[in-house]
Amino acid sequence: MWRPVVSIAGGEPLIHKEMTQIVNGYIERKKFVYLCTNALLLKKHIDEYTPSPYLTFSIHLDGNKERHDASVCLEGVFEKCISVIKLAIEKGFRVTINCTLFQNEPAEEVAEFMDMAMELGVEAVTISPGYHYERAPKQDVFLKKTESKQLFRDLFKLGIGKKWRFNQSSLYLDFLAGNQTYECTPWGNPTRNVFGWQKPCYLLVGEGYAPTFAGLMEETEWANYGTGKNPKCDNCMVHCGLKLPLSMTQLSHPFKALGVFLKGPKTDGEMAPELPTLYKE
Ligand code: SF4
Repeated sequence: MWRPVVSIAGGEPLIHKEMTQIVNGYIERKKFVYLCTNALLLKKHIDEYTPSPYLTFSIHLDGNKERHDASVCLEGVFEKCISVIKLAIEKGFRVTINCTLFQNEPAEEVAEFMDMAMELGVEAVTISPGYHYERAPKQDVFLKKTESKQLFRDLFKLGIGKKWRFNQSSLYLDFLAGNQTYECTPWGNPTRNVFGWQKPCYLLVGEGYAPTFAGLMEETEWANYGTGKNPKCDNCMVHCGLKLPLSMTQLSHPFKALGVFLKGPKTDGEMAPELPTLYKE
């Protein structure tokens, strides 16, 4: 049976007073919940939750101590994350790490981070290149697409034989390494927040909200979003817009998906053609 994953993202979900009821409500309906948290309040609230195969704490950790503390602009956060990850694993929760890569991050450093995450015993790491969005306070930290693809190729090369566990499909990893071309289909991963259903995806703000899911589907000008259709989308390689094409490829070309799963993404040679963009890198 089809059981969607519900990702509860932030801000920081653990500041919501009714978060346990929200999570339990999803679990009762047998939805898989990813609670995405910076982990700062998790130690305080952890006993309000019960370990379940349906519940995963997805802890935000953008790299090693120096990298993560600089990324969140607060000293000591990395150590707190590590200690709460250990605590949650000890208590029997499913735990993943959610890691975003930014500019000037050498592949060797990310590889060490992956080794550390595996030693910690997390289930997997969700990894993606930082999305370049116009309201971000720092504009010079984002990777351009070609830089992202080369970084992932270098990383995957360093990971050969290491059995790193990623929390994404092998086809998405292959896309990150520049071996696949996909068009974004943001309707495949809709976002709901306190303002309503966000158009067109959780990354873009200022595009408006629909009061109902049907309204989101019918009112959004979907053709205006994606690489080459909107300057805000041109640098985006984030998985949320690709869930649908990746799933469709997995279903229609299972041997292609299996091949990448068994061999890993290709790490050299020509990259797949890029969709035409509205900007120049
Ligand atoms: S490319 Fe897709 S997922 Fe990325 S910002 Fe644009 S609409 Fe959102």
